[in-house]
Amino acid sequence: MHMPTTSPHILTDKLLAWFAGAGRSDLAWRDAPCGERDPYRVWLAEIMLQQTTCAAVIPYFNHFTTQWPDVKALAGADTDDVMRAWAGLGYYARARNLVKCAQAVADERQGVFPIYEQDLLTLPGIGPYTAAAITAIAHQGPAVPVDGNVIRVLTRLYAIEDVMPANKDVVGGYGAKMLPQGRSGDFAEALMDLGATVCKPKNPNCAACPWEGDCHAHAQGHATAYPVKAPKKEKPTRKGWAFWVERADGHVLLERRPDKGLLGGMTGFPTTHWQVDAIDAEQAVAGQPFEGAWQVLDETVLHTFTHFHLELGVIKVAVEAAPPKGLWCAAHDVDNQALPSVMKKISALFS
Ligand code: SF4
Repeated sequence: MHMPTTSPHILTDKLLAWFAGAGRSDLAWRDAPCGERDPYRVWLAEIMLQQTTCAAVIPYFNHFTTQWPDVKALAGADTDDVMRAWAGLGYYARARNLVKCAQAVADERQGVFPIYEQDLLTLPGIGPYTAAAITAIAHQGPAVPVDGNVIRVLTRLYAIEDVMPANKDVVGGYGAKMLPQGRSGDFAEALMDLGATVCKPKNPNCAACPWEGDCHAHAQGHATAYPVKAPKKEKPTRKGWAFWVERADGHVLLERRPDKGLLGGMTGFPTTHWQVDAIDAEQAVAGQPFEGAWQVLDETVLHTFTHFHLELGVIKVAVEAAPPKGLWCAAHDVDNQALPSVMKKISALFS
């Protein structure tokens, strides 16, 4: 590892000067680079942005802040309404924790988000990254939220060779040395913006970077060699069956998935377990609480989650009288339900 000759504070000054002129002002959760931030909006944005792109988050963020403009409004929301509003954004445990966290802040802390990381960490759904982001961005407190952009920018600037993200504390240590007094939020957002708009993963635009003359990775001519990553593990493929169960009156069976587990609490079609070892259609139908004439569709639904690929065969079942319990929805109205993406792919086969 090679230390830049430029002092950390000079690097920070260059970064903040760049940020004042070139920082992003088109994000829904901030009006302009630099300036005060509402802790509620910072928290909501950071939860939504976990594993999700800015472009995907913006419409959801706008909808949530219109529907529930502050933490007390969200604390009073019906969890099912919040889950419906979240549908399509993925990682649904975040939505359930969102309501719990809003209730904890509203009921136990008079609607005020704590300032310090250790207090924020006691709230549902807030991990070390989000705690650091709220402390820094909402309160200008001394914290460095280390996300993918920050890892990329600082590992390049300092040519840090530790494997990422496993060693992101190393990056946090370098960031801490650069923290400007009272402007931790501007510093964090500036790092994030530099990573998002200049120091991009594949084609960093070093000519537009305030650190062009200071950056060790650039000087080595190997900017994209950083961050150093562990070899990727192959994702396994799980298989299963989904059921389009239709009554004679044109209604289709939906179910609410259990709160715990993948897509917890979301609405979807009945499915078998998703497992690496495939079962055939006959076995799949035999385990279900409904009966009727069934037919296997030719199409397979493919979807990728963080840790695995999913292949779902689809079976259409025409049930007769005495239908099983469940949520019955007119077939033409299924697309208007708040379904997670994989379920939408199933319904698309019938529209
Ligand atoms: Fe990234 Fe290039 Fe700037 Fe270094 S000089 S931080 S590689 S954009």
